[in-house]
Amino acid sequence: MTQALSPAVAIARDLIRCPSVTPAEGGALAFLERLLGEAGFTVSRVTFSDTDTPDVENLFATIGSGAPHFVFAGHTDVVPAGAESDWQHDPFGGEIRDGVLYGRGAVDMKGGIASFAAAALAFIAERGKAFGGTISFLITGDEEGPAVNGTSKLLAWAKEQGYVFDACIVGEPTNPAALGDAIKIGRRGYLSGIVTVEGTQGHAAYPQLADNPIPGLLALMSALDALVLDTGNERFEPSNLEIVNLHVGNPAFNVIPARAEGRFNIRFNDEWTLDALKARLHETLATAARPGLRYSLDFRRDAGESFLTRDDALITALANAVEAVTGRRPDLTTNGGTSDARYIKSYCPVVEFGLVGQTMHKVDECTPVADLDQLAAVYRRFLDSYFAG
Ligand SMILES: [Zn+2]
Repeated sequence: MTQALSPAVAIARDLIRCPSVTPAEGGALAFLERLLGEAGFTVSRVTFSDTDTPDVENLFATIGSGAPHFVFAGHTDVVPAGAESDWQHDPFGGEIRDGVLYGRGAVDMKGGIASFAAAALAFIAERGKAFGGTISFLITGDEEGPAVNGTSKLLAWAKEQGYVFDACIVGEPTNPAALGDAIKIGRRGYLSGIVTVEGTQGHAAYPQLADNPIPGLLALMSALDALVLDTGNERFEPSNLEIVNLHVGNPAFNVIPARAEGRFNIRFNDEWTLDALKARLHETLATAARPGLRYSLDFRRDAGESFLTRDDALITALANAVEAVTGRRPDLTTNGGTSDARYIKSYCPVVEFGLVGQTMHKVDECTPVADLDQLAAVYRRFLDSYFAG
């Protein structure tokens, strides 16, 4: 059965058919290069390298001139399909069944890219290149991977080329249940740490000849668990510390171990900076430790500050477009995990709005084709109002 597909649906299907499992390009960027190039965009393909991570291809496409400069950010790489036998639909087939498009990346986030591409192409077709500003695509193949050779380097590259961005939408799936539920206007920060207590190994029957690190570790971890960091605020949930591991590695019953380790992860709001949080944690342990306890607190390098976007014009323009198309006034949220918005926030105000996230990273990832068309309509309305003059 052949049926005419809308531009957003056709682009999403074609992108899903590119097997761009991170870090593979899979033909997805080549497809976008062709699509956007034919519409008059200037397209650059940029590959970044670093030690101990795979080389990754990225794409930057731009049209128009001068300010305001709006940039849409996204990633074409996808997580692996897992066991393909668990799927009812070919993960890279782009199959449409009963009004639903199936495949890895349908919502995270080839669908979001397709909807924005459809919106931008329609906008350019109507307004031409002299629409009073610039529209760019910042597309990485390294969001689901280590994220070393992706958006952070592409932003620095664009800056070197002289590009200055005024506003950004990241097309990640932000809606919990229905299109129009939520716009993300910030993200919590994250920090992981390791508490190590040193003791002296010995025979469990002769504790006076040993120094058991476990009671000391329990006291420290209990103090961390009892810590109330804050009560949240109007934009953020309360900050939270979770103990994620206690590790002694002692298989014997008659041995007092030499060392014990506890690990924790914190998701924190904008009441904290990383430095202030680290200082509070050191202080908490110092208070809880018995005199003479030998312990250390170390933090993982991979950590991020929280941020909140305060550009009311950007947020209102997008919320109005969402409401006009979907009939829903979106919640402005800051929950969930991290995204590449954590890098973009240092360059320009950034918000996130995309498809419904329910099936992301799951088998039979899918989106109703109607959502792709609605999302394209939201982005188009946003572009119309952003470039209204
Ligand atoms: Zn994603």
